[in-house]
Amino acid sequence: MAKPPTTPQSPATRIITGGRRAEWTGTADQPGAVVNPPVWRASTHLYADTAALKSGPQTNEDGRFFYGRRGSPTQWALAEALTALEPGAHGTMLYPSGVAAITGALLAVLSPGDVLLMTDSAYDPSRSFAEGFLKRFGVETRYYDPQIGAGISSLICDRTRAILMESPGSLTFEVQDVPAICQAARAANPDIALLIDNTWATGLFLPALALGADMSIMACTKYIVGHSDVMLGSVTATEAFYPRLRHTAQALGHVVSPDDSWLALRGLRTLDVRLRQHQASALRIAHWLAEQPQVARVLHPALPSCPGHDLWQRDFTGSSGLFSFVLNGGSDAARAALIDALTLFGIGYSWGGFESLAIPVDPARCRSATSWPPAGDANPYAVRLHIGLEDTDDLIADLAKGLHAFTMHA
Ligand SMILES: *Cc1c(COP(=O)(O)O)cnc(C)c1O
Repeated sequence: MAKPPTTPQSPATRIITGGRRAEWTGTADQPGAVVNPPVWRASTHLYADTAALKSGPQTNEDGRFFYGRRGSPTQWALAEALTALEPGAHGTMLYPSGVAAITGALLAVLSPGDVLLMTDSAYDPSRSFAEGFLKRFGVETRYYDPQIGAGISSLICDRTRAILMESPGSLTFEVQDVPAICQAARAANPDIALLIDNTWATGLFLPALALGADMSIMACTKYIVGHSDVMLGSVTATEAFYPRLRHTAQALGHVVSPDDSWLALRGLRTLDVRLRQHQASALRIAHWLAEQPQVARVLHPALPSCPGHDLWQRDFTGSSGLFSFVLNGGSDAARAALIDALTLFGIGYSWGGFESLAIPVDPARCRSATSWPPAGDANPYAVRLHIGLEDTDDLIADLAKGLHAFTMHA
């Protein structure tokens, strides 16, 4: 869904105004009569006559009725609002999950024989897609240290066609030098597609396209939806990359339901206030954890103990509610005792909802260009937390109980 021209406004305002076209929120004689677009459930779209039907394929444009697979105003409004979130964006495609968004973006730019450079800290299913599907498809993937910065140029060869960044990285939260990586890659070969998984920060806290990326990918399942009740993904692209992204998504038959789009649109409108609270609560808890004797290191981009903290300060406008901490010694069983003693933190995958979550993380399983634990550090046991919107005193009391259980187990 490509955007109409917009006037520059602050991001908090754009998430409120984005996608609310009068023709999607009213009737012909009362345009813009309601605030939100209704749920348009539709497979068949009807044409006035056979001449209009015939001309349909020639007007394969965003925001025009054609057939249900191309969406209807509910999906168009969400896509347009997500485009408004990312300065420098031209259009957004929606996908049935975050993983489908990642694979849809990669397939839009890769062909057999190409080389993909992927951050070693990528979301694990991105790596699995590279090692399984992409390998079979004839694409070779090479992994790079997320701290590489401009050094990425030494990895670029004449077959390199795409780079998949993710900042901060999954599980270990290294912040990458996105502008340096983009500049070095462009200098080496202007045809390389620069992709970033922007799920952690969203376009609100990291203007990824403005920093040089061509496509910003989000698992909307997380903070955009924000209520742990919908699976959804998005890719927002520049004008140069949007047409091939759209073409590939249509060829693969990607479409998302109007109900899910409506829920995501509802979530998006409060993204700014929710993220600010996740940020404040997570920071307070991260600082508290850093002072506990059971904790060796806190991996939160806004804390100096996190690799790339200076880059976070330079490029991001905020931090969200997801981070990890590394335990001082212990064992797998002691870590399990910690997590099992928590009552306010659910144990489960995903994050970005209103509720707090905790899981054990073992990055060593999915690293090949870097090592875990990092050289010189003997503490391998880490826990990832998502800090929800509960009261922080209550969450800290819960974590204190967990750390006590860890000590008793050791
Ligand atoms: C969860 C997640 C995804 C995948 O999203 P799904 O909607 O669960 O498929 C992609 N990237 C990151 C960084 C994630 O945390």
